[in-house]
This record gives sequence, C-alpha cells and structure tokens, in this order.
Amino acid sequence: MQQHIDIWNEIKSQLSVNYDEQSYQEALESIDSVFKVKNQYVYLIVENDFVKKRIELLYLKKMNSMLEHIMGETYAYKLITKDEAEKELADVKPYEVSVPEEGFGKNNYKANLNPSYTFSNFVVGTSNRLAYTSAMKVADQPGIVANPLYIFGDVGLGKTHLMQCVGNYILEDDINARVLYVKADHFVEEYVRLASKKRFDEFQDHYRDVDVLLVDDIQFLAKKEKSQIEFFKLFEMLHSNQKQIVITSDRGAKDLKDIMSRLTSRFLWGVSVDINRPDLDHRIKILEKKLMAETSDKNLIPNNVLEYIASAFDNNVRELEGALKRVLFYCTAFNYEFTTKNAEIALESLVKPKENHKDFVKQKINNILSLVSDYYHIATSELVGKKRTRNFLYPRQIAIFLIKKQFDLPYKRIGSYFSNRDHSTVMHSVEKIAGEVETDPNVKKDVDKLLIKCGEN
Ligand code: ADP
Ligand code: MG
Repeated sequence: MQQHIDIWNEIKSQLSVNYDEQSYQEALESIDSVFKVKNQYVYLIVENDFVKKRIELLYLKKMNSMLEHIMGETYAYKLITKDEAEKELADVKPYEVSVPEEGFGKNNYKANLNPSYTFSNFVVGTSNRLAYTSAMKVADQPGIVANPLYIFGDVGLGKTHLMQCVGNYILEDDINARVLYVKADHFVEEYVRLASKKRFDEFQDHYRDVDVLLVDDIQFLAKKEKSQIEFFKLFEMLHSNQKQIVITSDRGAKDLKDIMSRLTSRFLWGVSVDINRPDLDHRIKILEKKLMAETSDKNLIPNNVLEYIASAFDNNVRELEGALKRVLFYCTAFNYEFTTKNAEIALESLVKPKENHKDFVKQKINNILSLVSDYYHIATSELVGKKRTRNFLYPRQIAIFLIKKQFDLPYKRIGSYFSNRDHSTVMHSVEKIAGEVETDPNVKKDVDKLLIKCGEN
C-alpha cells in the first residue's frame, strides 16, 4: 500500500509540472490516499463525483500510462468517491474470510485449499504449539506418524488454517499429490445430492482417489447416519492404505454427539491435539504477521495501536484479524493517522465494552504514572498523593494532561487515579498544561519527551 502511495505522489508531482497550476490543483492536488489495490487496479479516493469525472476526462489516461511505466506491468487507477469508499467500508464484514469455492467433478480435480494458509503464515505460541508441531510432522511424513490427526478447539482459533497448511505443504513438495479439503457439511450435501441421483460411483471415486483427506468441522456429521456410514467406509479404506487423514472439530472426539461410536473411536487412533486461545503477546504477533501480509511497511501501525487491538479482541483470531482489517481500511481510506483513538473509532461497533479493555487502559495509565514519576524523580505515591507542593503538583498536572490526551477518559475517572480528585480539579490541570504547552517551551519539551516514552511503552 505504502508503495502505491509513494508512486501516486511521484506521479502527482510529475503531473503538476505538465499541467497548468489551477486545473491541477482543483482536481489532483487533494488526492492523497489509496483506498485499496485489487486485481491490478489502484483505487484513489476523490472528493466527489464532479472531481471524479473531471479527472477521468482530463488526466486518467496519462496517469495510467505513467503508472504502468513505473510498475513495469499492467496497472491502472480507478477513482472512488469518499461516499463510495465510506459505503464500502460500512459493508466490510470483518468476520469473513475468503475460502476458494469448492469444486467437484472427476475431471476437474481441485484441492480446495486457500493458498495463504501456510505454515509460514501461522504464528506459533503456547496455545497452539503442540497442534502446530503435530501438523508439521504429518505434513513431513503423511500417513505415517499420526493418522488421523485430529485437531479440535473453539471457532476462529486456526483449525482450518492449520489443517490446510498440511495440504499446501504436501502439494508444494509434490504437485501431483492428491490432496482434498472438504468441509464435513459439504461432504453430507454432496452425498445427499448424488445419492438421490444414484450416482454413488461418482461420489466414491471422488473421495477414494485421494492421498490426503482433510475433513473440516466433523461435528457436522451429527445425525447424518447415511453420510456417517459412507464416511466410515471411506475412512477405513484410506486408513488401511496409509493415506493421511486430518480431521478438525469444535470438540474432542469423545465429546462428539450423535456420531456413531465406531467412527469417533477411530478418530482417537492417531493423535489428537487441541488449540486454545492465544495470549496477548501471541495475539500481537499474529497481528504483526497479518499486517505484513497486507502491507509491505511493517511499521505502518505503531505497536501501541496493535496492542490496543490485541487487547480488545481476545476471543478469537478471526475477529482479531477482522479488527485489524477494519482499522487499516479506516485509516488509509481517510488518511487518518494510526492512533489508538482512531482505532477505537474504527472498531466502535465491534468492541463490546469489555472488562479487559478497561484492564488495558488501567495498565497503560499505571505505565504513564511510573514514567512520569521516574522522569521527575518522585515516588508514584507522591505523584498521585495529596500534597500540593510545586515539585509534586507540576508533575501531577503533567501526568493528568498526558492521560487525558492519550485516553480521553472522563475527568472524574482520571481523578480516581489521583486520590479521587474531582472533575474540576482534573479539568483545571488539563487546561493549565494545555495552555503552557503553547507558551512555555520547557513544558512543551517535557510533554513531548514523555509522549515519546508513552508511545514506546
Ligand atoms: P477455525 O477453523 O478454528 O474456526 P480458522 O482457521 O478459520 O479458524 O482461522 C480464522 C482466521 O484466523 C484465519 O484467517 C486464520 O488465518 C487466522 N489464524 C488463526 N490462528 C492463526 C495463527 N496462529 N496464526 C496466523 N493466523 C491465524
Ligand atoms: Mg474452520
């Protein structure tokens, strides 16, 4: 993304030389952000329809030839108005992940894998290490070390991703390996569809001819007796031929309901591993990884903002990823800075007022308190205490100001960190320092230094 912003700025400055000042300024000058890049189209945001038409008429051709020249391949600009961008933004469904459509048919063999679900894109932590190493082993020696590999855990924790890693890894090694990914509910649907047409052969051929079978969300076989019988036969056949089977589920094999026990007991023949929720550090690492996949600039979003997102979404990696995408969209589309506050606005509709967000803020405030007391060489207890001597009062006002600036909490709530000072005392401190920052270079220097320290923490 950053690359395209740089390129656009370059093109803009070249255009400004070629066209007369006023028409250039009216049309192009204000365009300074790239909304998205998709299918070799780079979407630029323009103010309104009028500007859009004008640019299309006057400059687009030139812009495109310059872009193509710089990129060395076919790329083109598309213009999108602010309104359109906003609408598209509102339509972003953060929980959606794109999985390629499932194909079916003898002559059209498809593994149905999402190519981005690779081991290198999977971030390992304590919550998923065992599952990860088991999947690695299976991918290295399919059919030998753990058959079936049974992975279970709550929704959105990476089961599908990990299972597809196995498939992608094997295919990378051997392009001719017959890997097949199928969701259990899709298996049932296909069975029902083809059984009703008496096309059993086709159904069986499709599944029996594989080297590696990945069956996702096996719990969806519940109550589908005929499909279970069919799957049982398939399992037996593949297993006895040492074909690797990987299964995922939302629960352990013993806890599966309404699935015949001769099937569930077989799930325990191999290795069973669970995936749990990632902790905060792990979530931050996942965000960093996802960010790298979206943009080449790994510093695009500052650490404290990533940390904010990671603390607000602790349940599920899919939600976490959706949140990151939303913040990315929001800030790049409108050219806002990546700050905790903007992230908060972008995620407003998603973040439930959660206890842990409060914990996060609390922890951050405590950090600020220790930073400020260190900086002025006073004890934190004095910083938040009641004494009004100048060497405590000034640092206290600075701390209050910083907290307000960083978190925009109600004055009373800030006061609760300072021996329950009331609304007006806190407000007075904020206003006083805000004024002094403007007039007193020493105060400004202190505040700037402390803000940098806060950002680093
Ligand atoms: P599940 O199948 O358990 O519901 P998914 O495999 O669909 O979860 O994961 C949801 C999203 O979270 C996917 O986009 C996936 O890439 C991502 N994800 C989950 N765990 C990790 C991880 N450890 N590292 C990187 N991405 C992850
Ligand atoms: Mg899944």
